[in-house]
Amino acid sequence: MTVYLVGAGPGDPGLLTVRGAEVLSRADVVVHDRLSEVSLLDLAPPEAERIDVGKRPGGPVDQESINRLLVEKGSAGLDVVRLKGGDPFVFGRGGEEAQALLEAGVPFEVVPGITSAVAVPAYAGIPVTHRGLATSFTVVTGHSRHEPESDADWDALARSGDTIVVLMGVAHRAAIAESLMAGGLAGDTPVAAVRWGTRPEQSTVRTTLAGLGQAVLEPPATIVIGQVASLDLRWFEARPLFGVRVVVTRAREQASELSAALRDLGAAVVEVPAIAITDPPPDRLKLLADKAQRVGDYDWVVFTSANAVARFMAAVGDARRFGSARIAAVGPGTAEALAARSLVADLVPERSVAESLVEAFPVAGAEGGRVLLPRAAVAREVVPDGLRAKGWEVDVVEAYRTVPAAPPRAAPPATPPEAAAADVITFTSSSTVTNYVGLGLPVPPVVACIGPVTAQTARDCGLTVDVVAEEHTIEGLIAAVRRRLGR
Ligand code: SAH
Repeated sequence: MTVYLVGAGPGDPGLLTVRGAEVLSRADVVVHDRLSEVSLLDLAPPEAERIDVGKRPGGPVDQESINRLLVEKGSAGLDVVRLKGGDPFVFGRGGEEAQALLEAGVPFEVVPGITSAVAVPAYAGIPVTHRGLATSFTVVTGHSRHEPESDADWDALARSGDTIVVLMGVAHRAAIAESLMAGGLAGDTPVAAVRWGTRPEQSTVRTTLAGLGQAVLEPPATIVIGQVASLDLRWFEARPLFGVRVVVTRAREQASELSAALRDLGAAVVEVPAIAITDPPPDRLKLLADKAQRVGDYDWVVFTSANAVARFMAAVGDARRFGSARIAAVGPGTAEALAARSLVADLVPERSVAESLVEAFPVAGAEGGRVLLPRAAVAREVVPDGLRAKGWEVDVVEAYRTVPAAPPRAAPPATPPEAAAADVITFTSSSTVTNYVGLGLPVPPVVACIGPVTAQTARDCGLTVDVVAEEHTIEGLIAAVRRRLGR
């Protein structure tokens, strides 16, 4: 029953504070702006009410109505997170919201955020203060240029000679530059304007005060004026996949590892959950449970995916049931899933495909022997057929099924339109291919597949495959994409 005024930071979801994430994770209601990052909204419980007050037919909701909404939801005994870009009290009108809550007697808490005034220049490699260049910085809004009575004292700012950070200044940049030059600031004063700072779409325009009026610039941008703007300690825009847009298609639960690795390299990741992983129907689930309880009766248990490991181990419950059964994994990803459960695979073929698994598998002894294969409902018959040919009795049980995911949600409100056009799409299994194609979404120019089987499915679906990973793992896929792009 508290209203939390939470600073969401400038865009990079990693810049939300720990406190912000904590209150979001148990919010009943999230009231957010247009600039809010969607992945932050995902931190709220799925059932939380999400109210976008930034983008509505007929323009944004006015401040009065937002204040009323917060008071109303807060008085109803709900935990409300008011998510605001950057810091809530830096040109965020958070102060007015706090006033309204205070007057209404609704308990509130302020969770400060990382302001774009400091973080956006930092991501462009510009420290707002720097020994020998600037001993202070002023954060000023350019928005009030058209309200002379509340406009900044540009003369005084010009005289200070230190760093001036202008927020909401794109529209009035020419007038701002003129005022500062009239106040005595030199026309050759360095200026950097950073658009979509801290996001994969970040771009930096470097100019001078005299050139600012003519610079091609779109909001939202943070404009840094002063000697520090000549510094270019680049790191963010220098990352290997910076500026590359990659579509990641896999089950929502699984996308994070690939997405996180791509993001660390600077890529803009568009997650399209093409498949969902579900339980088998009840009769099959019962069969899985029965087999899992008697897993120790088998000579081998063979896993061909991390999903199978997760589902089967949930059914096994107590790992001691394995007894002396040996374990095979098709590749390192599956072996890792086992290792995470303190199970060490006895056999992992060199190449992570079913054919190699069969080849590496021992021939059954004279007595024969039993193999359990928990796997997806739809799968190739290479493993069971191959193992039977080697003299094994093979029990196949359905551990999970992949179903097409619901079509993706509408593009997040804050996503710049450029994000719609991706450069690369990654496929990590045949089902992601068929289901993505089934969604009818556009296919980016570079198609990258984790292995030959996925690639074949893509070709069967009429796609041209540009990249097939040599090592059939997430790392292998990323390495192959980087090679292809020459990054
Ligand atoms: N409370 C926010 C500022 C709100 S005013 C904060 O502390 O950051 C909105 C202005 O902030 C935008 O017009 C732009 O000037 C700046 N801004 C916000 N996010 C930005 C981003 N990702 N990149 C560049 N500028 C940004």
